[in-house]
Parts: sequence; C-alpha cells; structure tokens
Amino acid sequence: MCGIVGYCGRLNAQDVVINGLEKLEYRGYDSAGISILENSSLRTKKKAGRLINLENALKDDPFKGNIGIGHTRWATHGVPNETNAHPHLNTNGTISVVHNGIIENYLDLKEFLISEGYTFKSETDTEVVAQLIDYYYEDDLFTAVTKAISKLKGAYALGIVSENEPDKLIAVRHASPLVLGVSDELGTFIASDIPSLLEYTRDVIYLDNGEIVVADKDSYTIYNENLEEVEKEISKITWSLEAATKDGFEHFMIKEIFEQPRAIEEAILNKMKDDEINLSTGTFTKEELNEINQIYIVACGTAYHAGQVGKFAFEQFAHIPVTTDIASEFRYNSPFIDDKTLLILVSQSGETADTLAALREGKKHGAKTISITNVVGSSIARETDKVLYCYAGPEISVASTKAYTTQLIALYFLALDFAKKLNKISDEEIKNIINEIKELPNKINSMLKDLDIYKNIAEEIKDSQSIFYLGRGLDFISAKEGALKLKETSYIHTESFPAGELKHGSIALIEDGTKVFTIATQSKLVEKTASNSQELTSRGAHVYSIGRVGDTLLEKSADKVIYVPNSLDVLMPVLTVVPEQLIAYFTSVAKGNDVDKPRNLAKSVTVE
Ligand code: GLU
Repeated sequence: MCGIVGYCGRLNAQDVVINGLEKLEYRGYDSAGISILENSSLRTKKKAGRLINLENALKDDPFKGNIGIGHTRWATHGVPNETNAHPHLNTNGTISVVHNGIIENYLDLKEFLISEGYTFKSETDTEVVAQLIDYYYEDDLFTAVTKAISKLKGAYALGIVSENEPDKLIAVRHASPLVLGVSDELGTFIASDIPSLLEYTRDVIYLDNGEIVVADKDSYTIYNENLEEVEKEISKITWSLEAATKDGFEHFMIKEIFEQPRAIEEAILNKMKDDEINLSTGTFTKEELNEINQIYIVACGTAYHAGQVGKFAFEQFAHIPVTTDIASEFRYNSPFIDDKTLLILVSQSGETADTLAALREGKKHGAKTISITNVVGSSIARETDKVLYCYAGPEISVASTKAYTTQLIALYFLALDFAKKLNKISDEEIKNIINEIKELPNKINSMLKDLDIYKNIAEEIKDSQSIFYLGRGLDFISAKEGALKLKETSYIHTESFPAGELKHGSIALIEDGTKVFTIATQSKLVEKTASNSQELTSRGAHVYSIGRVGDTLLEKSADKVIYVPNSLDVLMPVLTVVPEQLIAYFTSVAKGNDVDKPRNLAKSVTVE
C-alpha cells in the first residue's frame, strides 16, 4: 500500500527519489529501494527496514543519473525482506518496476511465465509485472507495458524504467494512488502522494484510473485506457506539506474513516476468486476442520470486539459455538486447550504482546492457530499455522477504524468458509451473504456525505462527565466498540452494557441530562431496546439511538435518531460503527485533543 516516487528530468534522480520517499514515510513501510539509470545502465539498491538503511548504503557508492524510481514497501505478498523489497527486475536486469497495490491474478501469471521459462527471485505479486513486460518487449517499452497491464487484475500504481530506453519513465495508475508533478525547468515527477512533489513543484496532475504517463526530460504525454492521448488539467497545490500528508484531511483518523469503503473492497477482493470464497493459505481444509471441536477467538481492545462479532458469524453461518476471550486473561486462564482446539488471534499490528503470548500458550497445548492481522510478516502472522490478512493498508491513527471493519470482513469470510466446508450452509445462502457484504462499501460511502449530524452531537456531548452505550445481542458489541472509541479519543468516561441489564443496577447512574447512546439495529431486538430507551428518557436521560433507516419507532423513544443503511443483522456492526467513529472523532476535535495520538495510548501494544 505504500510509496512510489519516480523522476525524469535535469536534477540528480537519487536525491529527488530519496527525498520524495522520506515524505512518504508517514504512511508506514517495511523496506525501501531505488533504481537509477546511470549512463544508460540500470543500478538498483534495496534494503529491509527504515529508509535510512538505504540512504546509508548509497553513501559510499551514490547513483548518478537523471531518471529513476523508488519505493517504500508495505508488504502484502511475501515477508518484508531485502529480496521482496522493490524495485523488481526482469531476469536479465534490464527492466525495473515499482508497484503499489496488489496484483490479484499474480499466481496465474506466474505459472504462465514459469511455463515460458521465467524464473522468480521474490515471493511478491509485483515481480510478475517486470517479467510480463519483458515477455511482451520487442522494441518498444510503451507497447510492452500496455500489453502487460492488459493482463493484470487488481490494484496497481506502477513506475517503470528500462535500460533499453534509457531516456524514459513510464507510470501507470489503476486503483492505487498516483499523482504527476510537472515543471518546465526541472522535469516530470510521479509519486503516490503530493508531499513528495512539493519541494520541486506545486503543479500537479491527478491521474485517473487506467491512465499511462510516458515522460522524458523535456516533456510528458498522458494516455487514457484506450491508449488515446489526453490533455489533463494542471492543478496548483496551495496546502502546506503538513496538510498534504493527510490528503487534505485534518487528521489521519478521519482520513482512515473515509478510506474504509476502499479498504473493505480490497479486503473482499483478496478473499475471493472467480466469484467464490478463496482464503488460500488463510484457512484449514475440510479434513482439518473435522478434527476441531472448539474455537476460541482471542484478542485485545477493538480487535476483541471484532472477535466478538466474529463469534456471532461463526455461530450463525457454521453452527459452531465459539468462546471469545481477552488475550491478557486467556494467557493465564486457558484450561481446556488441546490439539482439537482452534485458536483465532486477531491483532491489527500482529505484534500485540498479550495476543502473542496467548498464541504461544495455545500452541504449547497443541492448539491449531489462525491469525487475522493487517501487517504481513508480523510476529503473530509468522507464528500461526494460517494467516488471513486484513488488507486495510497502514493505519496511523492510534484509534483503530479501518483495521476494525476489515477485521470484521475477514471474520465473516472465515466463518463462511468453515460453514461451506462443513456443509452447514447452502451455496445460495453464501451467495446472498457475499452480495450483501459487497454492498457495504457503498453503504458506508452514503454515511460519509453529510457530517453535520455527527459534528452537532459532538458539540452536545463534549462536556459530559460520563456517557453510556447500550445494546442487545450484536448491538451490545457495537455499543462496546462505540464506548471504547469515544473514551480513547475524547477522554470522557464511557461505559457499555447490555440494554437488558440496565434495570439490574446501572440505571441508578441515570439522572437529568445523562447522555446515552442506544444501538438498535438487530431486527428481533429493536423494540426491546426502544423500551429501554424509553426507561432512560423517562428518568431524564438524553438518548441518541443508532438504528436502521425505516425503523421510525425509534423516534418515539429517543431524543435523536442516527439512521444507518439496512443490511443483514449479522453485518450491521460494519455500518453501526461508522457514526460511532465519526462522533468519537468530532468530539476529540471539539475538545482540542491530540486526535491521532490520544494520551497514554500506543498504536501497537508490545508490552504486557
Ligand atoms: N503487493 C506488493 C508487495 O507486497 C506491493 C506492496 C506495496 O504496495 O507496498 O510487494
């Protein structure tokens, strides 16, 4: 998901590329690399870890040339190491490619290329691109690139240079981000994001899907996907570097909330092949599943809430009872684990110390293990038998948003995969559920259009001492996530409980003006939760209800209703959480808090 920089012009290309990559470091990455055309021959260097490792390696032997490409990688296919780092080259080292995104059909392409005599060095999906361009290359790089990309499925932004045509830089954009920077004096720049360009030019061209750029030191030409030349408008960037790293958003948290539709699409694409569920190495076979007689889902914080939603999915789709446990508890209290136990570990970073310890404890007792994580090659991913990646892209804000919703997608798919293998669900039902899952990105987009309702609620609640979140069934899990999100970002005390438990104690806390969120999206439970809302309003509470479009009965029992689009009951947590995230975000902004780095919290909790 990470960073590409490319340059073709009059300046020293190594300086421009390294400088540009530094400006993309905020996006998170695990390795870095560069290719420069020096006196018409291609020189490449790659290093695992921080960009400084690459910079140090270049110090003794700098590359000299005016055309080059560079990359900071955030691994999706193959562990983060020097071999898998970009650029990737064709076998005889004449073509160099950097890629951001995922080539979904890379295995088919790799098989084809191997049958044509090609050999591969890395585990990445990207290497097929360099080899495929080589396969099509006769005497024109542009033609070879267009033929190669016509075979690619997935998301890709590409930067390509070749010593066969050493005066050229080619770039392609398809679904992954790529912008063009232009300057009559300096040349042409490509980058995944605007901050890399700002030191050189403020004139940028936003590329559209399918567009290809061919640049030399004096000019550039843009082609659309039908290979017709297009004239594009040049935009002037007036923002500061600081604002540019956030794509124009004020904070990473809101940027990442808005990235959810795209992240979910990516998560879905990577769990399907030819319209069927295909979790590849992220699941067990039917025979292995038959050996399992109990499932634990173990995680911490927001990932734990994802696991609790997962429990409902496994129980509903696959009819398998699931126990969920908090990792820091499980590791000291796991008496029934044996070799017939499956442990599912959920962790955004894959480094969460408590979850890692729970995994090791489970393995000691012979448990089988699957991890659901966002970071390829992380400790938890490496130590589990199977790993299912979230594909959310790097998440920078400490308060998790897109990692949570993509964890939910992973859990739904895993539950469906088990259900299918164990014959607990018909193909028809699977199809319907998947169609509903595919609708979720559009439904989230529809909630991101008008933000005033969330801003107004944030203003109303920002001075509260304490806020309660209530729900029943899956809505209780959404209540827990809503309470956690608000607590993390606003520092307001929040508490969540099952709505039916209210009268068994917690109702004593309700007084005039107490703010309460009730979540009421589960079809069989809406009326029950509405009655609980009524119990609250009659004791002076100010109730906000989150419910489905059309459930107007909620208006009778709440002071304000936030409507979310309709979906299957089991999928509702993906939608319900969006207003909760937005309210947490705007409350933090309204209080002037450090939104992306709330006090006392860390993104990856690597201590017990
Ligand atoms: N899918 C490619 C890889 O794993 C590119 C990842 C990226 O966008 O950084 O190497």
